[in-house]
Amino acid sequence: MSRNGTNNKPQLSFDAHVFGEIQQILDAEGIVSHRSELKVYECDGWTIEKSAPELLLRPRTAAEVSAILALLHRRSVSYVPRGSGTGLSGGALPISAPVMICTTRMNRILKIDTANRIAEVESGVVNLHVTNAVRNQGFFYAPDPSSQMACSIGGNIAENSGGPHTLKYGVTTNHVLGLELVLPDGEIAQLGGPLDERCGYDLVGAVIGAEGTAGIVTKATLRLTRTPEAHRTLLAIFADVESATKAVSAIIAAGIIPGAIEMMDQLIIRAVEAAFHAGIPEDAGAVLLIELDGLACGLNDGAQRVTELAKAAGAREVRVARDEAERATLWKARKRAFGAVGRLAPNYATQDGVVPRTRLPDILRAITQISVRHNLKIGNVFHAGDGNIHPIVLYDERNPSEVSRAIEAGRDILKACVAMGGSLTGEHGIGAEKMAEMPLLFSPDDLIVMSELRRVFDPHERSNPNKVIPMPGSCVEVATPHRQAAL
Ligand SMILES: Cc1cc2nc3c(=O)[nH]c(=O)nc-3n(C[C@H](O)[C@H](O)[C@H](O)COP(=O)(O)OP(=O)(O)OC[C@H]3O[C@@H](n4cnc5c(N)ncnc54)[C@H](O)[C@@H]3O)c2cc1C
Repeated sequence: MSRNGTNNKPQLSFDAHVFGEIQQILDAEGIVSHRSELKVYECDGWTIEKSAPELLLRPRTAAEVSAILALLHRRSVSYVPRGSGTGLSGGALPISAPVMICTTRMNRILKIDTANRIAEVESGVVNLHVTNAVRNQGFFYAPDPSSQMACSIGGNIAENSGGPHTLKYGVTTNHVLGLELVLPDGEIAQLGGPLDERCGYDLVGAVIGAEGTAGIVTKATLRLTRTPEAHRTLLAIFADVESATKAVSAIIAAGIIPGAIEMMDQLIIRAVEAAFHAGIPEDAGAVLLIELDGLACGLNDGAQRVTELAKAAGAREVRVARDEAERATLWKARKRAFGAVGRLAPNYATQDGVVPRTRLPDILRAITQISVRHNLKIGNVFHAGDGNIHPIVLYDERNPSEVSRAIEAGRDILKACVAMGGSLTGEHGIGAEKMAEMPLLFSPDDLIVMSELRRVFDPHERSNPNKVIPMPGSCVEVATPHRQAAL
């Protein structure tokens, strides 16, 4: 029995009758109201801002989600959806939303249909569990965020997540065919379906990337992809990031589209080596992890060509993983790199911006200057093939000056991305973190149009309020007693 049993009446900022009505909808395990337990939910992977919800609800079914949203709608209470809480832009941070609705108990894979190459899953299913369920039948679910061992399909849909293999296979929106969405008034809507071809407006596309502002996704029909016959995984070792980024452009310009091209700089290499002993030389200035996949017969030629191109750009050595075990070790080092960063500083903020691939040398130079200007260490581990950078700004939250400088450094990096013709996010979303930067990329009219689209789904803006879209003259500086940056 949870500590939040029926006798435990929480202190709520909204009508206390709502709590009694929620108890009619959910079992005791589905209601968390004890402060110490709610603290677990005070932030996602964007740890600079914290704000615990007043009430956490964990429904098991779409019908329960629908009943909760209808109740909150009647009582004018706002809510924030949450999947696994791995988001990196504060998307699941409660801002003016006392109730958090978490999908972790909606974790069933409902149907696998390999003949039609689809899977139907509840939104709380962990990303990697989809691939695990179909691997033996020769399929996988292509979007593979580095957090795939923990993040949920609902969170992936909300953020339009990508991953190392985005370069060849595309992002979440390319792999979701249909959605079940509970609208903020409790109505259950079915959008899209199992077919590839649809007519009419692309409402599935409008919900993907909406960061929880369109309602709560409860189910999804996912496209399954055939597992490639073979892989060649290469580690190209460079003296500096500049030559590594030149190799990235040279490979793509040669007409080769690897499954993935990932880069790590020296700060990150040293952290992952200390953690995982993957055999990456710690004196390297940068490495590229390049994976070619497809029919076995062409891969050796492809690997040879990539090796030549990397060497021409300055690689001192290019290694090809000898077997599956070596490949797995290299990928473990890359996919768990963020975790290894914990060795470097008590806290870190992962930025997410995009530049045209050919501007990678320029943005990395700019990041070095920003690091010097703010006197903070910044490591880089990112999806180089897409031009999607992830500078990791190291700081100590016990030092208020470092927190301020970390926030400023992140903003400066985003400004530099936009100035180079790039974008504010490749995959982590805008969330609470980057709302103030949206006007760098969008005009007031653009933002009004986005807001109008949002209101088609959520006319009262009660689903994840104060996220993504700053309205001119409002909401960028949100004042709420619950929200506190670690300043
Ligand atoms: C170590 C690490 C590595 C990462 N690597 C990558 C990467 O390679 N690529 C990448 O794209 N991201 C990456 N991320 C970021 C993060 O994992 C993704 O954004 C992921 O999709 C978030 O899923 P989640 O279930 O944790 O969502 P949460 O963090 O719980 O929520 C994220 C957003 O989705 C909304 N939401 C959640 N569930 C629903 C739902 N059912 N309906 C409607 N809205 C919902 C929330 O309100 C919030 O706005 C990484 C994060 C970490 C910590």
